[in-house]
Amino acid sequence: MTAKIIDGKVVAERLRAQVTEEVARLRADYKLQPGLAVVLVGEDPASQVYVRSKGEHSLAAGMHSVTHRLPENTRQDELIRLVADLNADPLIHGILVQLPLPKHLDEKAVIAAISPDKDVDGLHVVNAGRLAAGLPALVPCTPLGCMILLRETLGDMAGTRAVVVGRSQLVGKPVAQLLLQADCTVTIAHSRTRDLPDVCREADILVAAVGRPRMIRGDWIKPGATVIDVGINRVPFDDPVKAAQGKTKLVGDVHYKEALEVAGAVTPVPGGVGLMTVACLLQNTVTAAKRITGIEG
Ligand code: NDP
Repeated sequence: MTAKIIDGKVVAERLRAQVTEEVARLRADYKLQPGLAVVLVGEDPASQVYVRSKGEHSLAAGMHSVTHRLPENTRQDELIRLVADLNADPLIHGILVQLPLPKHLDEKAVIAAISPDKDVDGLHVVNAGRLAAGLPALVPCTPLGCMILLRETLGDMAGTRAVVVGRSQLVGKPVAQLLLQADCTVTIAHSRTRDLPDVCREADILVAAVGRPRMIRGDWIKPGATVIDVGINRVPFDDPVKAAQGKTKLVGDVHYKEALEVAGAVTPVPGGVGLMTVACLLQNTVTAAKRITGIEG
């Protein structure tokens, strides 16, 4: 058996096209241009790539887009002041502070300073609470992307068994909340879970958000299950010559080749969930702009 490969590229492109259309409509009908501000502190190379991509895609969708690049030695009070300015800026509807921040900065305090209405990363405690309470919320982008891919693949998920491996605020917990809202029976596993392979084997839907390369093996997967691999891990090439040259590649938390033999459907890394994250960020910014201005809910 070979699993269906869930193509994040196609779905993300379609979502970005929908957002682009919606932005054009809001600009034409309401003179509203959704605006996204991304804040990057320091020089982390992976963060720079993500931030550039967020800026480029928001511009391509017709949105107002601002990127603030601050030096590594930025003080907490300076960062908080920038966030306060963005909170008050009527042209900005979404604020994203790229994580991780340099060690001397307090991430929790910075996130708490973002207006919940503009918190397009969905990390503010108000949005986490609203999600848990089943109220309209800004939901973290990667979990939203996972759910869109699952709905594309499975349609109705009611009554299925879902296992989420990972319990972070950014991925594990919100994806579990969304699966619960979709009427799945949800188990959240983590580093202290006993008999993790057995727990995973119960899953009709298995979401891996761990950060450990290829940890989830083929024999952890129930035959026919749908596997969503959130992990992005940089590892040396399998080819010893390339590895010796120091070349690296990206792999997920799932052993992809083994998963292909067992699962019903699986997301590749790269080319799966990662591509959905930016598309969902654009969608969240449009949602925030409409809610802040009172247009259509
Ligand atoms: P965190 O490090 O915040 O959380 C990892 C979770 O995995 C924790 O809950 C941890 O458990 C659990 N865990 C760690 N080791 C094990 C283990 N051996 N067995 C079971 N559970 C374990 O990571 P994130 O949630 O932020 O990210 C997870 C992965 O997703 C990373 O690879 C990250 O790069 C990727 N990612 C991808 C995105 C995308 O756009 N595709 C966006 C965000 C993240 P405990 O709580 O007990 O410590």
